[in-house]
Amino acid sequence: MFGYEQFRGPQQAIVEHVVAGGDALVLMPTGGGKSLCYQIPAIARQQAGCGITIVVSPLIALMHDQVGALHEAGVEAAFLNSSLSSEQAAQVEKRLLRGEITLLYAAPERVTTPRFLAQLDSLAERGQLALFAIDEAHCVSQWGHDFRPEYRALSVLHERFAGVPRIALTATADALTRADIVERLQLEEARQFVSSFDRPNIRYTIVEKKDASTQLLRFIEREHEEDAGIVYCQSRRKVEDTAQALCDAGLKALPYHAGLDPAVRQTNQDRFLREEGLVMVATIAFGMGIDKPDVRFVAHLDMPKNIEGYYQETGRAGRDGLPADAWMTYGLQDVVNQRRMIDESPAGEEFKQVMRGKLDALLSLAEGTDCRRVRLLAYFGEIYPVNQASAAGPSQGGHGPTSEQSAGQAGTEGQQGHEVPSVGARCGNCDNCLNPPAVWDGTDAARKLLSCIYRVHQSSGISFGAGHLMDILRGKDTEKVRQFGHETLSTFGIGAEFSEVQLRGVLRQLIAIGAVAVDAQAFNTLQLTEGSRAVLKGEVTIRLRESVSTPTAKRARRPGSVAPAGINLGVDAQARFINLKSWRAEVAREHNLPAYVIFHDATLATIAERAPQTLDDLQGISGIGAKKMEAYGEEVLRVVGG
Ligand code: ADP
Ligand code: ZN
Repeated sequence: MFGYEQFRGPQQAIVEHVVAGGDALVLMPTGGGKSLCYQIPAIARQQAGCGITIVVSPLIALMHDQVGALHEAGVEAAFLNSSLSSEQAAQVEKRLLRGEITLLYAAPERVTTPRFLAQLDSLAERGQLALFAIDEAHCVSQWGHDFRPEYRALSVLHERFAGVPRIALTATADALTRADIVERLQLEEARQFVSSFDRPNIRYTIVEKKDASTQLLRFIEREHEEDAGIVYCQSRRKVEDTAQALCDAGLKALPYHAGLDPAVRQTNQDRFLREEGLVMVATIAFGMGIDKPDVRFVAHLDMPKNIEGYYQETGRAGRDGLPADAWMTYGLQDVVNQRRMIDESPAGEEFKQVMRGKLDALLSLAEGTDCRRVRLLAYFGEIYPVNQASAAGPSQGGHGPTSEQSAGQAGTEGQQGHEVPSVGARCGNCDNCLNPPAVWDGTDAARKLLSCIYRVHQSSGISFGAGHLMDILRGKDTEKVRQFGHETLSTFGIGAEFSEVQLRGVLRQLIAIGAVAVDAQAFNTLQLTEGSRAVLKGEVTIRLRESVSTPTAKRARRPGSVAPAGINLGVDAQARFINLKSWRAEVAREHNLPAYVIFHDATLATIAERAPQTLDDLQGISGIGAKKMEAYGEEVLRVVGG
């Protein structure tokens, strides 16, 4: 039905387990192929006479496209949500009770209404309730990044329909969230399938923030002209400004944030999914459930809250397995802002402590000079093999073996930020591997900075912010320096040999390892901490990346090439590819669906390359299932031939 040659990674094991009626908790990275893990069991169990699968999904706005994609593959699916008129909803309910649907998508608040539960009762009494699939299961946990209180009510499913198997799926892997999912959804008995979280086709790059919007523009122009991408910003205001700046520079960009009118938001999302080469500038309100496979880059203009968020967001790049970029810029202000948000939040101290630890882990990642992938995977308790310098490329299958590994240690809190479990392992597809940064020893600078914070506080009785402290260190004669008589301090000018950029780097690192605290309640002034002592005593070495200009383009697309990144087509094949794409665009418009739901770029590229003459030639091309063959086979041959 789906036209794929083989299962990916753990899909087969999961499908077999669930078809047989087992409960499962599936942890797989974004783009790993979670949907098939419940869709195939739904089809198989329906055919075996077990009835309907209910898919709980938090994303009303995307149900239409998900169901559309299933229809294209020839699967009976429907959704129930507030976008339907009452007649339409009644129609779906009728089909549901008559067992005419294989998969029914509904939001958790709908599933847990007394009315809907009563309908499920009636199905269950007749043995026609085949499976519950709980997608985006991390929404049940406050430790996850998309907490939805409505998910908590889903425990009723197990209590009321104990005999119906359940599969919960998420791309959020940290141990805390996972444990929470198990507890809240009562999945203690479920078998856990934990995939490797590596996404080999994604290239990670983290650069120091200078002029973020110019840096972003250069990055897009250099590597992703005409590609679809997502740019994440912290604030709504910045989303608007950045989208405008990109448009001014001649790119097609749209804003998305929770403050926009819902109709505008929906339109922008639809356009992003349906049009080619659009850049979505968004807050984190955008993205969950967006299964557009050809997002070629995800950029962060501001640092996210933690590695879970960063990994989830960057994971939206390159679901099709073709080369993609995760690019982030971050600076001292990001560190300060994130700290302040935690400090000022009304949460309890214990919660804040956890959040600070998570932020620190992300800072260490940003500051680190070792392989980004090794560090990311280590955060999720996964050890990247030392000799697996994976070639970056269109590897479809790189989602490693399933393991029922232990939770691992979530986070690198408390580490100095330089030791990682698999020392020396390199992925060959991140900035640090491709362009190993020059490293300088910032220990001396760090000690001078700390002494300066100490002296200034001692002499003035108050603390100061980063800018003023650096002026003192570098011996600058400013009004403020004179106002407080700071030119008389013994630390005045002792850091004159360091540039401001270098000192900022040192400061970020000190904040990252907790050797300096930023007091958000007092104008972001800097203060010494318990952790300062070790640095002052010279017990901790501070290694810093040399501030370098952005690396030059390494993967520029071949001029004139229209094929997706990582695929090379000859001249004739390119012409066919263009024709196929415009044919696909027409079909997609007619069906009111995104183009990739009809066929992926990779499928079209393969067709263009093979130039099939007969339906037989089309057989076996990945992504052409029986229904699509029947619906589009002849047309595709005509487009290729003509
Ligand atoms: P997830 O929900 O885990 O992010 P999806 O279910 O959206 O991932 O799958 C990601 C992409 O991989 C989709 O475009 C899907 O069609 C494709 N895919 C999934 N399983 C396979 C497979 N066995 N072979 C080829 N492509 C697959
Ligand atoms: Zn690497």
